[in-house]
Amino acid sequence: MGGLNLPNIYIELAYLVTAVCFIIGLKRLSSPATARSGNQLAAVGMLIAVVATLFNQNVLNPWYIVIGSVIGGAIGFVLARRVEMTAMPQMVALFNGMGGGAAALTSTSEYLKLLNSGGAIPLDTAIATILGVVIGTISFSGSIIALGKLQGFISSSPITYKGQQVVNAGIGLLILALAVFLLFVPGLLPLVAMIALALVLGVAIVLPIGGADMPVVISLLNSFTGLAAAFTGFVLRSNVLIISGALVGASGTLLTQLMGKAMNRSVTNVLFGAFGTAGEVVASTTSASGKSVREVTVDDAATLLGYANQVVVVPGYGLAVARAQNAVRELADVLQEKGVTVKYAIHPVAGRMPGHMNVLLAEADVPYNQLFEMEDINSDFSNTDVALVIGANDVVNPAARNDKSSPIYGMPILDVDKAQNVIVMKRSMRSGFAGIENELFYEPKTSMLFGDAKETVEQLVASVKQL
Ligand code: NDP
Repeated sequence: MGGLNLPNIYIELAYLVTAVCFIIGLKRLSSPATARSGNQLAAVGMLIAVVATLFNQNVLNPWYIVIGSVIGGAIGFVLARRVEMTAMPQMVALFNGMGGGAAALTSTSEYLKLLNSGGAIPLDTAIATILGVVIGTISFSGSIIALGKLQGFISSSPITYKGQQVVNAGIGLLILALAVFLLFVPGLLPLVAMIALALVLGVAIVLPIGGADMPVVISLLNSFTGLAAAFTGFVLRSNVLIISGALVGASGTLLTQLMGKAMNRSVTNVLFGAFGTAGEVVASTTSASGKSVREVTVDDAATLLGYANQVVVVPGYGLAVARAQNAVRELADVLQEKGVTVKYAIHPVAGRMPGHMNVLLAEADVPYNQLFEMEDINSDFSNTDVALVIGANDVVNPAARNDKSSPIYGMPILDVDKAQNVIVMKRSMRSGFAGIENELFYEPKTSMLFGDAKETVEQLVASVKQL
């Protein structure tokens, strides 16, 4: 069956519109207020690209694309609707792996086409094809291992052995040698060997990294997938693929760097250090320095909140686990009715994925003008009567400022300890992601309100209403 031929100029124009949609969409993702429409715009751009491709003269059977899009779209739609917010990193890993795999398969098929045509393969095409195959394959197998670690079907602790980095470097060198060989002596066998080794390398790179570091790894692999797609774009002479691949590659790289900065860790440290793997520390209610925690009742906490001038809510991973976002919004509403100013302090790596808290609070329709980034709110804690920490731990741990031996030393934190009072809501004395104790809990100005975040916030709402 022939393609739905349309002159190339219209197709290229459609691709240009797609590229513009992607770029404006990305720009709009930079603020919670415009993120939703940015995402929709980028999705429209993708739809335009897919439809335009159906009319491409080089596409022999457009129905394959239609069938693929319907099946893939339906699976993506169902998965995206069903997935729990806390399982979002797994879904991103899966989608990313599929992207890398698709780029690798496309490059491989182009390579085989050129190989079977019998003629010489131009050097530039060969380089782009081989890079697309290798990077896409590493991203595919690495993402699947990342998914497994997050979902728990592969042990989330680092899987290491002596000489591992030497072995990994050896595999990398073998891939490089095969790639160079293929440039001058095209052939099926070296290609298959290179793909097999790239699959192994993806697995080997991710296995020694602790499950807790997976979101950073996924962001890094995401930039690999973008690169692989861009190289595939060169092979297919597809401008839209080059542009979108480059956008994914660049944004993935930036995101990886930003996450590293917010955690005060370099990418090398994430890839080769064993952080976030120390296991959970269950601290006692008495600190090493002999201080003990002060517990409050719901009613006492409600009184403190209800008579405050300003309350700053600090959400963390526990808020996501408890799905307490709607209850928190309700608490803010009743406090505001009593004349209390309520603000939310958003740490860049609170939760388990970038923008986690923004997405949760947006789900509960918290007004964007009440959300404050860490740099903007930190100076305001000294004017705050109560900092209400809900399911956050590491992002408010003063050890990041004071304790040079702490694994999180140097990580920028929310300065909740500068507020007049701090109420910490969590279920127990267990540690957070970094697996370390938090001195904040033992400060005289801190009160611990133990319990599941959602249940406790709901009790607080009822109690504040009674005041
Ligand atoms: P933390 O992981 O430090 O702490 C979360 C706390 O929530 C725990 O101490 C836990 O205590 C509590 N909790 C869990 N479930 C509930 C519940 N149902 N109700 C109430 N509390 C609950 O979270 P933070 O958000 O403070 O910090 C994020 C950490 O994740 C940082 O170390 C960051 O570097 C890391 N990270 C973040 C990424 C990102 O992109 N955002 C990516 C990778 C890592 P308890 O068990 O006692 O209830």
